[in-house]
Amino acid sequence: MADCVFCKIIDKTIPADIVFEGDNVIAFRDINPKAPVHVVIIPKKHINPLEDMDEEDIVMIPEIYMAARTIAADEGIDVSGYRVLTNTGPDSGQEVEHMHWHLLGGRLLGDIG
Ligand code: 5GP
Ligand code: ZN
Repeated sequence: MADCVFCKIIDKTIPADIVFEGDNVIAFRDINPKAPVHVVIIPKKHINPLEDMDEEDIVMIPEIYMAARTIAADEGIDVSGYRVLTNTGPDSGQEVEHMHWHLLGGRLLGDIG
């Protein structure tokens, strides 16, 4: 999508520190990290919000979690632990309207909310 910052990262028209790339997902370091490890994992297909993921899109979710596991191991936080979460819609505080999953770790994470 033309005005989507994450689509531009996928197209490599804007730079990002990409840490993982698979057939259907790509992951890069968050520009404003909330933890020592803060990676954003996104589907290469522009989808938003979660409700717009149809049955075909949903099969991509396991790839998100497999990418999270791979990145967590690469970053050395697989044993210490980490959080994978997504925001969707206004009340969640979602800023970028391209579905994405945050991978956070490297410190003790507090309660959500
Ligand atoms: P949200 O609040 O929508 O769940 O999270 C969006 C995340 O994307 C934020 O943590 C924000 O820092 C990150 N972000 C926004 N724009 C960019 C960008 O251009 N590059 C990178 N690497 N991260 C971005
Ligand atoms: Zn997009």
